[in-house]
Amino acid sequence: MTRHVVVVGAGITGLTAAYLLTRGEPRPRVTLIERQGRVGGNIETERRDGFLLDGGPDSFLSTKREGAELCRELGLGDHLIVPRPEAKKVYMVHRGRLEPMPGGLALAIPTKIGPMLSTPLVSFPGKLRMLGDLVLPRRRDAGDESIEDFIARRFGREAAKSLAAPLLGGIYAGDIGELSILSTFPQLVEVEKKHGSLAKGLLALQLARQKQNGSAPKKGGDAPSPFMSLTGGMGELVAALLACLPPDALWLGRSVERVEPAGNSYRVRLDGDQVLDADAVIFASPAHATAKMLPDDRVAGELGAIPYLSTATVFFAFPRAGLERPLDGVGFVAPKGEAELIAGTWVSSKWDGRAPDDHVLMRAFLGGARAKVDVAKASDEQLASVAQRALEQLMGRLGAPSLTRIFRYIDANPQPIVGHGARMQRVEARLRELPGLYLAGAAYDGVGIPDCVRQARSVVDRLRRERLG
Ligand SMILES: Cc1cc2nc3c(=O)[nH]c(=O)nc-3n(C[C@H](O)[C@H](O)[C@H](O)COP(=O)(O)OP(=O)(O)OC[C@H]3O[C@@H](n4cnc5c(N)ncnc54)[C@H](O)[C@@H]3O)c2cc1C
Repeated sequence: MTRHVVVVGAGITGLTAAYLLTRGEPRPRVTLIERQGRVGGNIETERRDGFLLDGGPDSFLSTKREGAELCRELGLGDHLIVPRPEAKKVYMVHRGRLEPMPGGLALAIPTKIGPMLSTPLVSFPGKLRMLGDLVLPRRRDAGDESIEDFIARRFGREAAKSLAAPLLGGIYAGDIGELSILSTFPQLVEVEKKHGSLAKGLLALQLARQKQNGSAPKKGGDAPSPFMSLTGGMGELVAALLACLPPDALWLGRSVERVEPAGNSYRVRLDGDQVLDADAVIFASPAHATAKMLPDDRVAGELGAIPYLSTATVFFAFPRAGLERPLDGVGFVAPKGEAELIAGTWVSSKWDGRAPDDHVLMRAFLGGARAKVDVAKASDEQLASVAQRALEQLMGRLGAPSLTRIFRYIDANPQPIVGHGARMQRVEARLRELPGLYLAGAAYDGVGIPDCVRQARSVVDRLRRERLG
């Protein structure tokens, strides 16, 4: 008899899981249930008046291979793009101004001494303290700690607050005093374990990667951008996955309310009292939503305790001629207290094909851990006005926008706080007693698109072995 697998949530994780289940053998019947009237979850790409807007993710890390690999597998290899070569500079808001970030930073870790010495972003005593990384012994304790404590231990508190907070915390829209280093940047922990010094270790890794890619290792040169996107924006990936699903697999605008055990299988209760029988269920919905569906209070309690933050992305297009300063980079990030924004992307400078030549396109991120404005409650007009005022304070006159578009991501940014790894171990242990229930997605083992793809692959492999064999 054909087995039936229900996948809850059609974000990148659920779509990838459904796609993989409908490839390879054994092949079950798949139903992918999505509460909203569209697929993609946080991935939202819109075309408007000649502009291409990626409201959520605009790219993914190519240093984690799963994102680009999936694109190639789906026939999107020719559509993969990297940021425009001239868009190298990233700015940091410092004392109300945009200061270029020192060259040679990798994950907020300096791999070159020269640019670090001359940057105004860190005080002289702060710079002296940063040199401590070169000589301090590695940590012996293998326990978790916050990103802030980890960076402060090696480079000092000032570097943690002025570099790591906007660069590393910004990725999560979160607070580095709470986020777990082991669950966010485990590679940095590994580098410390192996090399002691993070600066020396990351430089060695960069040189090895350049050598492996066949490019001559240049000690003084900039590493190539680790980001990739698609010519048609991240929505192309969503559309390609969707195109591979059988026509009856996707149920849009339907919500899973509860999943209940029924002997060796499960009953999936949807809104409107419809019930589906499933041999296995993959929850690819946010942890707080999954907590409400699960038939187990312990797992539900753990998932419900994973904090989430809300953000908004505010897009503006301006006639290029009206701008006071050139957009000579990919954009900026802002440390806490420096701006009402978390960051801004100069989209039309970063990527080709996002705006007509006579216009620029930019996006501002608001909300997250430091939010003064409540992005869930503020009106569109309030968000647009806060964002435009903040951009003008940093970039001078912008003129009247020819396009404004706001995307909201409410309770959409999971926060892997200190102790997240231990929480996930408890969850995994309990789930072993509930065979046929699987979790995957941004809340669990990495928030990036490649992390979500990897998790989808991993649960589908396990599900095939455990439930379809
Ligand atoms: C503003 C922003 C920018 C980002 N930028 C980047 C970036 O540049 N690069 C990068 O790699 N990552 C980025 N990320 C992170 C990345 O986008 C997400 O981690 C990833 O898209 C999450 O995918 P997911 O499928 O796990 O979850 P989601 O995208 O949250 O999808 C979950 C789905 O489950 C559905 N659902 C919820 N409850 C139910 C229910 N009861 N029944 C049925 N369906 C339900 C939801 O409607 C949703 O569609 C960004 C995230 C945000 C918010």
